[in-house]
Parts: sequence; C-alpha cells; structure tokens
Amino acid sequence: MQHIDFLIIGSGIAGLTYALKTATQFPDKNIVIFTKSNEDESNTKYAQGGIASVLDLKNDSFEKHISDTLIAGDGFCDPEIVALVVHEAPGRIAELIEWGTRFDKDFEGNYDYGLEGGHSQNRILHYKDITGLEIERSLLKKVNATSNIEIKTNQLAIDLIVNPINNTCKGAYILDLNSNTVQGYHASVTLLASGGLGQVYKQTTNPSIATGDGVAMAQRVGALIKNMEFIQFHPTALFHKAFKPSFLISEAVRGFGAILKNKNGEEFMQKYDERKELAPRDVVARAIHHEMIVTQAACVYLDATHLDKHEFRKHFPVISKTLEEVDIDFTKEWIPVTPAAHYSCGGIEVNQHAESSIQNLLACGECATTGLHGANRLASNSLLEALVFAHRASLQNKKLLENACSNVINHTFLQPENHHNIKIELQTIKEELQEMMQRHVSIIRSDKGLNQTIERLQFLQRSLEILYKTHPISVTLIETRNLVTVALLIANQSLKRKENKGTFYSESLV
Ligand SMILES: Cc1cc2nc3c(=O)[nH]c(=O)nc-3n(C[C@H](O)[C@H](O)[C@H](O)COP(=O)(O)OP(=O)(O)OC[C@H]3O[C@@H](n4cnc5c(N)ncnc54)[C@H](O)[C@@H]3O)c2cc1C
Repeated sequence: MQHIDFLIIGSGIAGLTYALKTATQFPDKNIVIFTKSNEDESNTKYAQGGIASVLDLKNDSFEKHISDTLIAGDGFCDPEIVALVVHEAPGRIAELIEWGTRFDKDFEGNYDYGLEGGHSQNRILHYKDITGLEIERSLLKKVNATSNIEIKTNQLAIDLIVNPINNTCKGAYILDLNSNTVQGYHASVTLLASGGLGQVYKQTTNPSIATGDGVAMAQRVGALIKNMEFIQFHPTALFHKAFKPSFLISEAVRGFGAILKNKNGEEFMQKYDERKELAPRDVVARAIHHEMIVTQAACVYLDATHLDKHEFRKHFPVISKTLEEVDIDFTKEWIPVTPAAHYSCGGIEVNQHAESSIQNLLACGECATTGLHGANRLASNSLLEALVFAHRASLQNKKLLENACSNVINHTFLQPENHHNIKIELQTIKEELQEMMQRHVSIIRSDKGLNQTIERLQFLQRSLEILYKTHPISVTLIETRNLVTVALLIANQSLKRKENKGTFYSESLV
C-alpha cells in the first residue's frame, strides 16, 4: 500500500483550506486530496449568498452574531462553539483575502455587507452572487501552486481503513474512475471533507456529488453520527423543470427586498413571523409549504418587480441571467419558488479540534457536526464553519503524526466477477429513495411516515448489500449504497427526536 502523510477526501472549502494550512506547517510531508469529480465540483462552488463575519465593529458586534446563531439554532447550538467560531471568523476571512479571494466593495472602498434571513445586521461578505465559485477559484489556485499538495481528480473514496484494535484510522480505499481500479492508501492522518447529502431528496439545491459518502463511510467504521434529523430546506429554489438540481434564488434576494406571495397574489409571511421574509429558513420553508397546501399550488412566488432592476442585475448577475434563460422577466413577473433540501446540520460528531470518535480521523465542513448550527443553520455560517474548523483541524497535525503508528494493515479489496449490468436496478432504487424521503422525511414528518420509510429503506439496504457483494463496484453502486445509509440515519434519528425544534417538525408531536 502506498503511504501518504495527510490524506484528504474532498476538494471544497474544507479540504482545500486544511491542505493549505497543513502544507505550510509541514513542507516536507506529502498531502494528497482525493476528489470524486473535477477539482472544483463541490457544494462550495454553488454558494451564492456569502460568508458571515463581524468585521464592521462600528455597526455590528460579536455578541449580535452569536445571538443570531443561537436563535436560529433553536436552543440546540453549543454556545461555546458558537462563540469560538464567531470570534475566530475575522482572522480566517483575513487569510482568505490574503490568499486571493475577492469580496464586493462599495463606492468608498468598504466591504459591501449583505443581509440574510436571521441576521440582525448586514454582515455577509459576498462576491456578486457567486461567492462560492470565487472562494473555490482562489483556493484551488493556491493549492495548485503548492508543491507538496497533489489533487487527484476522478478518485472516489469507498471506505476508510480502521485498525479495530486501537480504533485508529489508517487511510482509505479509493476507486480510480479513470482506470476503474481500487487502490488502498495508508495514511498517518485522514480528513473527511466530503460535503453534503442533498441528493437523498428528490428536490435539492445540491449537485450530484452530494451523496453523503463521508457520513456513510464514517458510520460503517463506527464513528459517532449526530443530529441527522436536522436537514435544512432552502425556502426559495426556482420552481422550473429545466433545473436538476434545483437552482437557488439566494436569500440575499429577499434581503434586497423581494416579497413572497401565494398564487392568489397575497403576501403571507406576516401571518407566520414578524421578521417576515427574513425569518430563519425553517420558519420560511414551513410557511411556504403551508401556503402551497392551502392554495393547492405547486409553488409560491417571489415578487421583485418593484425593485430597481439595474441594481438587482448588478447584485445578482447569475440569478438574473438564469431567469432570462428560462424566459422569466423578473421586472414584470413573479419568480416561481419552492423549498428544496439544502444543508445537513448533522453529520460526523467532532470535538472543537475537528477530531471524530475514531483516532486520527478528522472531519470538517458539511459532513461534520460541530455544535455551531444546532437545529437550524444561520444563513452563510457554513462556509465560515468549514474555514474555522479546517484551521483548527490543522492545529492537531503535530499530535496526530506522533500518534500515527507505522504498522501497516494488510487488507485486500476483493472485487467479485460478475458481468450482469445493474445500472437500471440502481437507478430505480435511487429514485424510490429520493421520492420517499421527499414525501415522508422532509419539511413535515410523522411517526407513521417515518416508520414506513425506515421499513422500506431497510429492505433496500439489504438488497444493496447483496448487489455490493456480488457485483464489481461502480460509482452508482457506491453512491446508492451511501444514500441508503444516510437516508436511514436521517429517518431513524428523526423518529427518536421527541420535540419539534428548528428544521425538524413532526405532526405526530403537535
Ligand atoms: C446552491 C448552494 C448555495 C449555498 N450558499 C451558501 C452560502 O451563500 N453561504 C454559506 O455559508 N453556505 C452556502 N451553502 C452551503 C455551503 O456551500 C456548503 O455547506 C459548503 O460549501 C460545504 O463545503 P465542504 O468543503 O464541506 O463540502 P463541498 O464543498 O461539498 O466539497 C465536498 C468535496 O468532497 C468530494 N467528495 C464527496 N464524496 C467523495 C468521495 N466519496 N470521494 C472523493 N471525493 C468526494 C466532492 O466531490 C467535493 O469535492 C450553499 C450550498 C448550496 C448547494
């Protein structure tokens, strides 16, 4: 088995930031990032709104950002973690800027802070409506210029290698999608930075890579997984059949003044929350869901017709262009929107140093749960969390290298011989799973729906395990297996939750 000092799974903001930090600390160690698609394909790339941080101390304060995060998290945040992230944010943002990330400024050269739901102040740094793309661009540029970091694309991590005797992670098995061969890599330190799991739902803003692989891999080796019932639905994804995944109409559009209306043209948010359009996402998503039911409509609408069209286009160039492409003239007509699965607040449980319950296995970014988001993530806090925890993870490197013992585990990854094509079976399983999760395990859940879903998912999981043992592995087989694993985690942890909190709502508990 080839040896790697630092093995990273994922090339979004979390994986790239950790790689850069580690490369500076250990210029003579090798750092390899495995990523299953192109180097920039990630949830990070699609982030629009921005990244939250208190930089304007004249008008804002750390206390306000802390308070907004705690309110959104609905009593489930870890206050110590919230304070730590908010206080460390300016330092991490300064590094990001130093590494070449651009953020929009006003005419006077000050940062143009945006406002999003749940924030009591304008504090969102953004670059037009493509903040994530800009962050990904700048990080990749720096990573590619760093001699001891290698990015291997089209490399799908299948499973972690763990020594059960001392509960220590020793690396991972990777499927090379170019040669279709599996290779085991022995690593001193392994970081899971594999992102989200939105693909478990039929309607999601997440790209096709977001199949919960990291959480599923961690679960298979016995790592603690927590808070999976807290799935955030973004209230306003564009309702249009041309987009799969759903195209996001950023919260910043509501921050800019767009108003939600039902199909009868009635404004409705005042009935649900005094913060109206800028209430936290769980509140807005449930309000929209309710309006869609009572008006028997497939969507609601965002009215931006009263807004300055030049300013709108300047702030939201990609959104404006995308709407034009599908013949929606936002200056004259309302934009059809519907909620879509967006963000997983739960994941691999880590401590404040990004350490999981498995020795020498770190996790950060969307695949991890740190205590920051509680039952509902405050808008634009997730890019920030990934930055802060990637930095904190890197501070553990010295200790973890010392922990890493050199004895190699000699496993062989056996591939069965079988030429039967199972692509259609796998596609059918995936579609059934997404449909079921959308219907029974999304914005409004019930014990009955959860029990039915769990029973069916357990059956699908048994079928998939048979396929996995009897057929050569493929991307679809691995991802579908992971999707079923994370779907079961979400459904099971939902059934255990006995109180409606944040993004979790069951009508059986009312
Ligand atoms: C449309 C959209 C808009 C958003 N807007 C915002 C916003 O404005 N502000 C904000 O704070 N957050 C936003 N978010 C959330 C935020 O983008 C993500 O939470 C964050 O980018 C996650 O970063 P990450 O590095 O953890 O994961 P990702 O950026 O998703 O990266 C995961 C990486 O892991 C790789 N990977 C996954 N599985 C495997 C495997 N098995 N083997 C190898 N590689 C693998 C992927 O290919 C990818 O490179 C948005 C999300 C979406 C989808």
